[in-house]
Amino acid sequence: MSRPGRESENRSVSTPEALHRFSQDPRVRTRRSGPPRDGGKCVVYWMQRAQRILENPALDLAIGIANELSLPVVIYFSVMGNFPGANLRHFHFMQQGLRDIAEGAAERGIGFVLRRAPESTLEAFLEEVNAAILIGDENPLREPERWRAALAKRLTIPYWTVDADVVVPSAIFNRSFVLLHHFRPHLKRHLDQFLVAGPAPAPVKPWRPARATSSFDLSRDITEGFAKLDRGVEPVDTFTGGTHAALKRLDHFIRHALAGYNEQRNHPAVDGTSRMSPYLHFGHISPITIALAVRAAAANGQCPGDTAEKFLDELIGWRELAILFVRHNPNYDNWECAEPWARKTLIEHAGDPRPWSYSLAQFERAETHDELWNAAQRQMVRTGYMHNYLRMYWAKKILEWSPDPARAFEWAVTLNDRYQLDGRDPNGYSGIAWAIVGKHDRPWFNRPVFGLIRPMSGEAIARKTDTVTYIANHSPSRN
Ligand SMILES: Cc1cc2nc3c(=O)[nH]c(=O)nc-3n(C[C@H](O)[C@H](O)[C@H](O)COP(=O)(O)OP(=O)(O)OC[C@H]3O[C@@H](n4cnc5c(N)ncnc54)[C@H](O)[C@@H]3O)c2cc1C
Repeated sequence: MSRPGRESENRSVSTPEALHRFSQDPRVRTRRSGPPRDGGKCVVYWMQRAQRILENPALDLAIGIANELSLPVVIYFSVMGNFPGANLRHFHFMQQGLRDIAEGAAERGIGFVLRRAPESTLEAFLEEVNAAILIGDENPLREPERWRAALAKRLTIPYWTVDADVVVPSAIFNRSFVLLHHFRPHLKRHLDQFLVAGPAPAPVKPWRPARATSSFDLSRDITEGFAKLDRGVEPVDTFTGGTHAALKRLDHFIRHALAGYNEQRNHPAVDGTSRMSPYLHFGHISPITIALAVRAAAANGQCPGDTAEKFLDELIGWRELAILFVRHNPNYDNWECAEPWARKTLIEHAGDPRPWSYSLAQFERAETHDELWNAAQRQMVRTGYMHNYLRMYWAKKILEWSPDPARAFEWAVTLNDRYQLDGRDPNGYSGIAWAIVGKHDRPWFNRPVFGLIRPMSGEAIARKTDTVTYIANHSPSRN
């Protein structure tokens, strides 16, 4: 940034004020403050969670700052072979998304550089391109947050992150909530301010890479040579990754299923939900894009207003409740996150006889006595996705048939994160916590094994929905 009274070659004198204005946005967190590097040649956006060009507040901020500094923007993406819990299924889906990013960046005049760790590091790249400032996105999970905090300590240029994958920035609340109905009024108060399309500024200076700026060729497999990668979980063809596929699926949902969402969402044999979760997990689509499209559909009479609101309650209410839970509870992925009442009741019932008890391997191979449970497990293993109604049942039964609640939680996380395309996500940890330790739920009636945790029965589900078709669709012989 120009020092007072001195105008540097490529920056206007108004730059400090403009930067200050950007930093006041509630989505923005200044992780390392200070002026942009004097003589810096570009703004780097380190893309990690928000893997998209469309409706990406982190990218918008990088472009806004770059325009103020009269600099180009380059997106840096690092493929990490040891990303926690990632396997071939996840990398395959991510690679499909990366192609859309490369295409979108080129159309918008932004650079896109793909490198693979450990051959290249972000810090080496910042030196290579002489970055003036680093912009990043946010991720509430433990490891990605640790990387960001550690990076901020090491960097010598400013580093800001943007809460790009929520509607209302989490910092606005700065706390978690016990129940959704406690959270809703707070959320509603801020929705109109944040549920709006971003400015999508056009870059003033196009990125012209130096000849030596290499980028991994996306026609090659991004996992090439990753010796330690878990390749046992194969890619699926039920979902295609990327923003294009996400928008296509969203359009399909709005035209064919949104109007019936209230009635159909609890019928696992029906294609009655959005299936946006893998795209949201990888940041291929913004929740703002989805919410605005659903609101527009309601305004056009494509669905009743209360149906749109019910969907938004899931997409924004439950999803952002989960994100706040993960952000504020260091035990989000183990049973220690239980509320005191849940912990007490589960300990009281720890010695109850289990009518059935299975090992993790038996669960994984869908070898229980319960055909509905086995079908749900097979849907997840084969398609990378399990219907919401059965996710609840699936996790409740893991509690019922595991030796103790701590192991039930651990095993549910292991399986969920391994096979679901949307796994390793705040929604997964909060969903498992809801099912197994009563998180975001209230005490129910005292029962063996469950204590006061809400139970679920296969018979009750079979009375409400067509489990016969669901089981047939996911039978052992059907692929
Ligand atoms: C045991 C268990 C495990 C789960 N694991 C995951 C997971 O790993 N990843 C994941 O994204 N979701 C998880 N969920 C939440 C939910 O089941 C999925 O988000 C939903 O089924 C995804 O399908 P959809 O996109 O068609 O949902 P829709 O019904 O179309 O809902 C739209 C969006 O709203 C959000 N949403 C819906 N239901 C919930 C919910 N209960 N909690 C938080 N957000 C919600 C999701 O982002 C979803 O994509 C889990 C729930 C349970 C009970």
